[in-house]
Parts: sequence; structure tokens; C-alpha cells
Amino acid sequence: MLMNTYPKSDVTFTRGDGSFVYSDKGEVYLDFTSGIGVNSLGYNNPTITKALVSGASLMHLSNLYDTAQDRNLAQLLIAKMGLKSVFFANSGAEANEGAIKLARKYSYDKYGQGRHEIITLRNSFHGRTITTLSATGQDKFHKYFTPFTDGFSYVPANDIEALLQAATDRTCAIMIELVQGEGGVLPLDRKYVKELAEFCRNEDVLLIVDEVQTGVGRCATFCAYEQYGILPDIVTLAKGLGGGIPIGAIVSGAKCEFTFGVGDHGSTFGGNPLACRVASAVVGTMEKSFLEGIYDKGDYIVKTLKQMHSPHIKEVRGLGLMIGIELSDLSAIDVRARCQDNNLLVLTAGTNTIRLLPPLTISLSEIREGLAILQQII
Ligand SMILES: *Cc1c(COP(=O)(O)O)cnc(C)c1O
Repeated sequence: MLMNTYPKSDVTFTRGDGSFVYSDKGEVYLDFTSGIGVNSLGYNNPTITKALVSGASLMHLSNLYDTAQDRNLAQLLIAKMGLKSVFFANSGAEANEGAIKLARKYSYDKYGQGRHEIITLRNSFHGRTITTLSATGQDKFHKYFTPFTDGFSYVPANDIEALLQAATDRTCAIMIELVQGEGGVLPLDRKYVKELAEFCRNEDVLLIVDEVQTGVGRCATFCAYEQYGILPDIVTLAKGLGGGIPIGAIVSGAKCEFTFGVGDHGSTFGGNPLACRVASAVVGTMEKSFLEGIYDKGDYIVKTLKQMHSPHIKEVRGLGLMIGIELSDLSAIDVRARCQDNNLLVLTAGTNTIRLLPPLTISLSEIREGLAILQQII
């Protein structure tokens, strides 16, 4: 049987269509989770299906050979992001793990051994491998699996003085989420991010932005960093990139464009032509008008939730279609369960925040339908 790593659900799902999933008993659920921000274009999307079907003739080849599919996706990403080079992985943790290696090698090449420390933020989440757990600034993730990877320290978010104090001549990178997702849907302050980016530039400390959850349209721009007026040195993508097919990416700016040489990093499945073809279809839909639609939908959800004036809602916050509802006195797990009983799927983030990550393709009437259910409950 399956290992007991996730809480059990009493519903078994069999298929999805658009913003809805269907159970084996024929019940219909409106999905405000997108499989944790993965099914960015909804279920059974014709664009994705077409890419999947046409990709079936060359699903995998190995990175020993070139394909048009991985080059095409790399080109699309570079053009959208204003960066230089790409490495494909299969998940968020794997992309972050590679980004950490990339930053350390950049520093090793330029400054020699010892300048390898990475500062991350308290309350962050960067993945489940031993090293990305080390990067994750939450004590609850630092149990059982010792020894963890050395060389990480944590500072509170939005406190530039704490960051400046924590940085030493051994610091090679700072790694942040611009909206902390698992930590509670907490957008960083703009001024803080600008100051942090300026510090990185002045000290040749690499700025790694983990856009695994915020990227690929989720926050109403292709990447969230666009809204912060910064250009990171390294960006990681995953969740929404493949529209449901597993793929991750490390996207590097000029500093680390050539840092990895032959043999320095690799992945058997990474950059397989099938995943790259599907991800190219996803990235191809991220046109200006599509992104503006995401902004409008997110704005509508936030305004509607605020106008409910519910005594149970302490704060509504987020960016684009990544929205957190901090509850004042209800438990997030309970609210989530009651939503599911009413055929609405939502996520939690921490103990007191409901997290909404609906498909980016969701319609206004579907949004209204879901918000009406939420209103009954909170
Ligand atoms: C989900 C997530 C990860 C981990 O991604 P996996 O694909 O589960 O390995 C890393 N960083 C952030 C910000 C995430 O939201």
C-alpha cells in the first residue's frame, strides 16, 4: 500500500474537466487547488492534450542527444524572463537543489572554497530533499533526518537589518520566495526585496528566487519578480510549468550562464521531449491578455472576500490567483473539510490560512460559485 505521508481523503477521484473534478460516485467538485498550483490550465485542456498526443512519438531520448522540444522551451523561457540559460529538472525540489549547486559552483569558480553559505527566510519552503529541507526555514522540517546539509542560515522576512547582519564573506547566495506559499501566502514587501537585490548586486551574492509556486502566470505576471522590479540571478520553476506533467527548471541570468559545464549536473528524465513540449504549450498561452485576465480574477476574489466582512476572516492577501485567507478563530483544516463536504476543494497554508490556487483558466461564474460556498462556511 501507499506510505502514510499524506492525510487520507474519503473521496476517490476519477477524472477532471476544466475547473471541475469528478469522484467515482459521480459527485462533482469545483477545484480551487489546481493540484497545488500544478494544473494551471485546468483539467482536460485541449491545448495540453494536443501537445501530449503529438509528443507521444518521442517521449524520451536522454540528454545525450538534442531535441527541438527542449531548445524550444528554453528559448520561450529565456525570452519571457530576460535571463540566459536553462537546466530542466522534474520537480521543484530538484530545481532548487540544482540552483543551490549552481550558486555554490559560481562562488567556488570565482572565490575558491569556503564561500558557500546560503541565507534563506524564516517560514520559507523550498522542498523535501535533504538539502532543500536545510534551505527551508521552518524548524518543524528539521527533525529526524539528520545530518542535514550544512551552510544554511535563516533570517526573518522583511527585515533588511537582520539580513545584513547575517551575511558574511562566506555568503554566496540568498534564496527567497516572493510570496511564501506553504508558509501562509505571505507576499514580501517591495522595498525589502529591492534593498535585498541591491545588496546582492553590490556584494556579488547571487539572488535565487524560488518561483516554483509563484511562477508561470500564477501571480498574474509570467514570474512574480517582474512585479518587484528586480532581475534575479537564478530563478526556479516547477509546479504550474507543465500544466500537470512533471517538470522543473533552473533559469539563470548572465552570471551563471556558463557555470555548469559538461558533467557538472544532470538528470535522466529532466528535459525529456514530452514534458518540454507540453510545457511549451503552457508557456505559449501566457500572453498579455491572459495574464491580465488572471489579475482581474484575483482582484475580484480578494475584493469579494473582503466585502463579506466575515468576523472569521482576519486578512485576505496574495498576488494574482495565489490567495490566502487568514482566519481569526476557525481552524483551516476544518474549513477545508467543510468546503469539501460542499463540493469545493481548497488548500490550507499553516494552521490558520486557507489557500486558493484555482486553475488560471477558471471562469468568473465558477469563481462566484466557489465564493458562494466559501461565504456559507466563513
Ligand atoms: C512546492 C514547492 C517546492 C517543492 O516542489 P516539489 O515539486 O514538491 O519538489 C519548492 N518551493 C516552493 C516555493 C514550493 O511551493
